Amino acid sequence: MTRLLIVGPPGAGKGTQATQIAAAYAVPAISTGDIFRSNVSEGTDLGVQAKAYMDAGEYVPDSLTNALVRDRLSQSDAARGFLLDGYPRTLDQVQFLDSVLTEQGASLDAVIQLGVESDIVVERLLKRAQEQGRSDDTEPVIRHRMDVYTAQTAPLIDEYEARGLVVTVDGIGSVDEVSARIAAALKAKLAQS
Ligand code: AMP
Repeated sequence: MTRLLIVGPPGAGKGTQATQIAAAYAVPAISTGDIFRSNVSEGTDLGVQAKAYMDAGEYVPDSLTNALVRDRLSQSDAARGFLLDGYPRTLDQVQFLDSVLTEQGASLDAVIQLGVESDIVVERLLKRAQEQGRSDDTEPVIRHRMDVYTAQTAPLIDEYEARGLVVTVDGIGSVDEVSARIAAALKAKLAQS
């Protein structure tokens, strides 16, 4: 049973790494961004509500995001543990996740922080914009998403640091290099607990 978070600025490569780590620990990788994007493409109520925020590079309100995560974590595959990618992103979400886990008598095992400098992530995101055509990958929106991350999400790392959960990994390098670094750091961390 392993419960993990992966955090880092937009473009740090969280999604790619999340898939590999989740497979290694046999837990589902749960990306709130992916869940929002599939709701947008299916035209659900949630998708309609989330789209304007996403396109502007703003966070979707905590009330919507928290409800979605509660629902997802109650599904049977998450009983084995999970890797949350892109959640929590605000202190309110941290508290909400704490309360959901407390109800389940569960707790987090580690928080993987993927570190990448901002110039590099902007470059990566512009490349992804060309390849995938995501509507929130234009340069002004990318810069805004970075600012929102710094203001709202970077402080969460201090909170998880204080709990002794954070494993910091350098996110610069090939996918395989970064993934090997994460695997080694996580193994060491989980062996301590
Ligand atoms: P991502 O794919 O993780 O970069 O998420 C894409 C967009 O989805 C973000 O810029 C937000 O608009 C929205 N989003 C994803 N996760 C969250 C979250 N935990 N809280 C609020 N908004 C989120």
